[in-house]
Amino acid sequence: MKRRQLVQGAAALGALSVAACSSSNSPSQSQSPSSNERFRWKMVTTWPKDFPGMGTGANRLAERITRMSGGRLTVTVYGANELVPPFEAFDAVASGTAEMAHSAAYYWKGKAQAAQFFGGVPFGMSAIELNGWLYYGGGLALWEEVYAPFGVLPFPAGNTGVQMGGWFNREINSVDDLRGLKMRIPGLGGEVLQKVGGLAVNIPGAEIFTALKTGTIDATEWVGPWNDLSFGLHQAAKYYYTPGWHEPGTPLECIVNAQAFAALPEDLQEIVRVACQAIYLDMYAEYTLRNQDALRSLVDEHGVELKTFPTEVIEVLRTASEEVISGIAAQDEMSARVYDSYRAFLDKARWWTANSEQTYLRLRTPA
Ligand code: CA
Repeated sequence: MKRRQLVQGAAALGALSVAACSSSNSPSQSQSPSSNERFRWKMVTTWPKDFPGMGTGANRLAERITRMSGGRLTVTVYGANELVPPFEAFDAVASGTAEMAHSAAYYWKGKAQAAQFFGGVPFGMSAIELNGWLYYGGGLALWEEVYAPFGVLPFPAGNTGVQMGGWFNREINSVDDLRGLKMRIPGLGGEVLQKVGGLAVNIPGAEIFTALKTGTIDATEWVGPWNDLSFGLHQAAKYYYTPGWHEPGTPLECIVNAQAFAALPEDLQEIVRVACQAIYLDMYAEYTLRNQDALRSLVDEHGVELKTFPTEVIEVLRTASEEVISGIAAQDEMSARVYDSYRAFLDKARWWTANSEQTYLRLRTPA
């Protein structure tokens, strides 16, 4: 189901690009739509170089653009801190220091509050629901509007699927256990934690293990089993909670300097667009496989204790999430518009999912 929708989306985009091609091949434009001009772009990332999933996905995106363009647009990837620090990736693209970046939208809430709706939204849409909103429900157009004042163009470029609830060095049996809890949790999830009495911090991925191991933080979320295992987080905290209520289907982004994009011939623009959509599916598919294998390994080989949050805790977090999200919507006009669109789509998706995937998954042979 998920795959079919994505494939159909990719096919639709392919059809668009064919249409664009044939129109520009009309007799009135006898010269080739592609110039021979060569472009060299830098891609900075918020991830450590070659980090499994996000880093390797960014590498693959760069390689595909380079190959699909026959070398007319070559993209060189820089890991976090190689060219700029991770959380300066947005500014680097806005200023043109780098033409593109691979990152996640919630890191840029200091630039625009509304960006958070394009990262993980607590108790929000699943990855498959989000695809519908982004590509066909007006979500991507709103995302473009949010970044437009900065001269930056967003492209969805990866999805982690549902994340995990995180690593805790003490059990979470009631809401009281969240009070005073110092946890690495970015974006809206972090604001929700603050609201229920926790202390949210945002630190780059590469620093999480040490912070947790040394007790600088009491808990952390990162991504899911695949990425969490590769950071060795099971060696720093005992309890692994599911699910990632705060990030039910986080899209990753490729952001591009709008002027640099406008300077590309139309076919190279389309290559960037389609390569991003291809990597979106590619990363989502790879996360699905690697996460299931890594969770097995964490539980069976590393003795990790897998736990679910008590219902009482989830209910408090859900209520707090609604307050936080509607509070953000009230902050500025753009946030209100994105919230309205997100909310309306989620309400429709909730009903459709309940009558399709959710019903089916309840009926399938249990794990
Ligand atoms: Ca996360």
